[in-house]
Amino acid sequence: MRTETPVTIRLKDYQPPAYWIKDCALIIRIFASHTEVDSTLRMVRNGDPSQLPALVLDGVEQLIQTLSFDGEAISEYDYQHDRLTVQPTQAEFTFNAVTHIFPNTNTSLEGLYKSGTMVCTQCEAEGFRKITFYLDRPDVMATFSTRIEADKAPFPILLANGNPIASGDLEQGRHFATWDDPFAKPAYLFAAVAGDLVRRDDAFTTITGRDISLRIFAEPHNAHKTEFALIALKKAMRWDEERFGREYDLDIFMIVASDFFNMGAMENKGLNIFNSAAVLATPETASDDRFDRIEGIVAHEYFHNWSGNRVTCRDWFQLSLKEGFTVYRDAEFTSDLHDRAVKRIKDVMFLKNHQFPQDSGPNAHPVQPQEYIEINNFYTVTVYEKGAEIVGMLHTLLGESQFRQGSDLYFERFDGMAVTTDDFVDCMAEVSGQEFSQFKRWYTQAGTPVVEIREDYDADLALYRLTFTQSCPATPGQSDKQPLVIPVKLALLDAATGQALPIDCDGAYNADTQVLTLTEAVTRVTFRHLTSRPVPSLLRDFSAPVRVRLALSDAALLLLAQHDENAFNRFEAVQQVYLDTLLKLTRGELDAIPALVDTVVLSVLSDDRLSDALQAVLLSLPSYQMMMDNLDQVDANAVVAARDRLKQHLAHQYQDHWSSLSQSLASADDYDFNAEEVGRRELQGLALHYWVLTDDKMALNCAEALYRAAQNQTDRLNGLKAVMASQDVDRQQRLLAHFYRHWQQDTQMVETWLVLQASAEGMTVADIVQLMAHDAFDFTNPNKVRSVLGAFTQNFKAFHDAQGEGYEFISQQIIALNAINPQVAARFVGVFERWRKFAPERGAAMQSALKSVLETESLSSDVLELVQKTLA
Ligand SMILES: [Zn+2]
Repeated sequence: MRTETPVTIRLKDYQPPAYWIKDCALIIRIFASHTEVDSTLRMVRNGDPSQLPALVLDGVEQLIQTLSFDGEAISEYDYQHDRLTVQPTQAEFTFNAVTHIFPNTNTSLEGLYKSGTMVCTQCEAEGFRKITFYLDRPDVMATFSTRIEADKAPFPILLANGNPIASGDLEQGRHFATWDDPFAKPAYLFAAVAGDLVRRDDAFTTITGRDISLRIFAEPHNAHKTEFALIALKKAMRWDEERFGREYDLDIFMIVASDFFNMGAMENKGLNIFNSAAVLATPETASDDRFDRIEGIVAHEYFHNWSGNRVTCRDWFQLSLKEGFTVYRDAEFTSDLHDRAVKRIKDVMFLKNHQFPQDSGPNAHPVQPQEYIEINNFYTVTVYEKGAEIVGMLHTLLGESQFRQGSDLYFERFDGMAVTTDDFVDCMAEVSGQEFSQFKRWYTQAGTPVVEIREDYDADLALYRLTFTQSCPATPGQSDKQPLVIPVKLALLDAATGQALPIDCDGAYNADTQVLTLTEAVTRVTFRHLTSRPVPSLLRDFSAPVRVRLALSDAALLLLAQHDENAFNRFEAVQQVYLDTLLKLTRGELDAIPALVDTVVLSVLSDDRLSDALQAVLLSLPSYQMMMDNLDQVDANAVVAARDRLKQHLAHQYQDHWSSLSQSLASADDYDFNAEEVGRRELQGLALHYWVLTDDKMALNCAEALYRAAQNQTDRLNGLKAVMASQDVDRQQRLLAHFYRHWQQDTQMVETWLVLQASAEGMTVADIVQLMAHDAFDFTNPNKVRSVLGAFTQNFKAFHDAQGEGYEFISQQIIALNAINPQVAARFVGVFERWRKFAPERGAAMQSALKSVLETESLSSDVLELVQKTLA
């Protein structure tokens, strides 16, 4: 906990380090009461060797035993404010520190900490300084050798990065293992694990014929859940060879599942550590969503071996260099393996639901932030998801072949180095001969650009003209915005048939990629030889992360919703019809649901060409977030009422469809995780949900029957969630009790059980308090906290309940979490991000909740930075 004034770190102040660390030899001795870390750093002056500035090492909560240079004890040193200052006398030297740390009481889950029965690490971004003194910054890359010593009975397995070199017994029931990582890496990629773990083995032969051992470790109660991740890992390894030409380098690749983990997973070199929830799955206990997420995360962390580890970030302002690129890579992986259109639709929905609001709120920041107080607060949807969109735009502008050349050049040129997003884009510029200096504004300019589009049609001349006007709203600290490079993938459709028309125009339009590139504030494009007015299908596949403003007639919208062959744009048109209706209902502008909605829904329900998965997304309503994002001021009651009204309309109007789909989509086949089956189950779940909303007793019976007969978790949750959406409280309680009785020994199932309750419609603060008092809850475990408090804050109706109790309650939880785990506490500040948008009373209540957090003593820099920004 830091009590002094927080320090702002700025990109423009970047300086190379005064010393390099060439090599780090660690001995980690784990004892019951403490852990002793013996660290020997081989260091060399970076710069004039006749001038030796002080050596300033990062170190948090280090109990110093001894410090020495080249074996000579250091008597004079200064250790305060998490920095150790010593004075070297040579340009090349070894620095040794022996310190004590206390993993058992480390609830921040950064550095070395206890997770269940094991001890493990989390070092990104700045956790290594909690293990020993170090130049804890990503541009300092060293080779590591790690020896771990521990009691053999509780810790039979000892793991670290790299290849295993030696192991053996020691006196008094202790043993050791030594690992050697030959690839120089920043300290944030360091990992060590000790525990009583069960191992599952597999093997992979690389494209050049090298045999790699694959191992997944989990605590014994989770051992049966590791097979799927291994299969996903092998797919990812093969795919990275084929799509990106990237081969794995070490002889062994390991994954460890940890029940206590702040994030999803961590790409430590050769030793990934995962949140159990992001790696463990069986069909019995994990739903399709979970399988999908696990496959994506396993691939993501594996892909980091090149995009992040072999080529890493110079400083944390470059975080998107590894994250944006790697999110892009894992999205491509999923798209190649499953259904590209559905993946794109879901990713864009996520972006619009989370990143767009961030970009228009008090915490808006560029993909490459210019300053930060706490880097942990910049692991954001902007750095990750918008960062991935930027890489995607480069792909669109270059095409697959040149993009691959650019990525090959990047990996080849910067292998073993710590570089910047500029370096990445420069490789793309070099192979394509394109100029990307304007494009780079995407990294430095915050806010979501708005593209307004005007159509003009001249029937006499058969000319159709589009005028694009781009702008970007002001964001905190950035009032003036420059035009961006915006690739607009487009087609012009025949207004009668929906067929794409041949395009004849000059200049910015590239016929091969069907992309028009905007670079100016205003761009006018004239299309020739169009004998009738076309319907434009713009920003196909969401070719740029922008908001489009284009007033289409109902007829044009309907044509796109029914006929656009670009599945993404068809989805967008359908969503637009729903969203317009929801917004008008919210504002009290509609007496009845417009006929256009029914025409659209019927055409989706009756279109046999659509896959089940596409049908499911086309029949899903826009989220509360999407509605809020499109309203200037949010009246929570009106938003809820509008969405309920449209849902009820769809439920009743198409009751026969829902009941027949619920039954015809049922299957007794063995579980298989593939796009077709996932789509089938998704559509069945959706149909059942709508059907239950009609209060048809048969629907509820059908839902309960699905729950009870389920052979897999997806079917089980489809049944149970439908019951949870009904008014039948007795049945809900009965099934929840049954669920818990049956699955209380299974951590992931208990988490699901908590989420189901915290997401229930009538949930009150008193109910949440009661849930937190249950034996299954643990305030020190981030997954449990997210399952209850996270789900509650996502429960729009309950959290924004008219009593406003939820706000005060969550502010108290932030204060309590701040003392235990600042990173997790800080994540909850985000639920108040849009307080200004809420109609006066709720907005004021949220503001006052935030102020009560701010008044707390000893706030962590994580929480302090976000609360200050949100209130500013
Ligand atoms: Zn990542």
